[in-house]
Amino acid sequence: MSTANPAPAKTPNFPQHTPVADRDAGPNFSAARVGPLKDLIRYAVDSPRLGLTLPGKVFLQDVLGLTGMEVSLGLMPPHASIPFLHKHDQNEEVYLFLRGRGEMLVDGRVVPVSEGTAVRVAPDGVRCWRNTSDDDLVYLVIQAKAGSLEQWTGTDGIGVPEPPSWPTPA
Ligand code: ZN
Repeated sequence: MSTANPAPAKTPNFPQHTPVADRDAGPNFSAARVGPLKDLIRYAVDSPRLGLTLPGKVFLQDVLGLTGMEVSLGLMPPHASIPFLHKHDQNEEVYLFLRGRGEMLVDGRVVPVSEGTAVRVAPDGVRCWRNTSDDDLVYLVIQAKAGSLEQWTGTDGIGVPEPPSWPTPA
């Protein structure tokens, strides 16, 4: 006898300590003002599964109601490191480094990273990253189901004929 799998829990894997307070939304958009990147350290998330707290991390999937990807912003203080290795079941990740200098470790290979470096890691890649500099390392992580992109972004966009009309501020 088989039992249907229960629906995935709505509780995020990483409960956010510090909520993103400044938010806005309309029928077709949602916005979150996380604040200056240099102040990201005021955010933190818990990882019950790993039994630790990650400072300087904001996950945006819940905040924005994202349906096809997870996006997080992270700040790692000078000479800090993620204290564990992880991989994924289905999602590939792109790490996009916005500030600072550090290294990623992927399957035992070291990849130097700095502002402007983008690193894709396949689900099976066993990964970690660290800040090797005296400055903050600021980065963005986007994850989406590997192989899920079925259209090219250049042909998915559809031009709308009217010119932009900006409302006058009230
Ligand atoms: Zn990950």
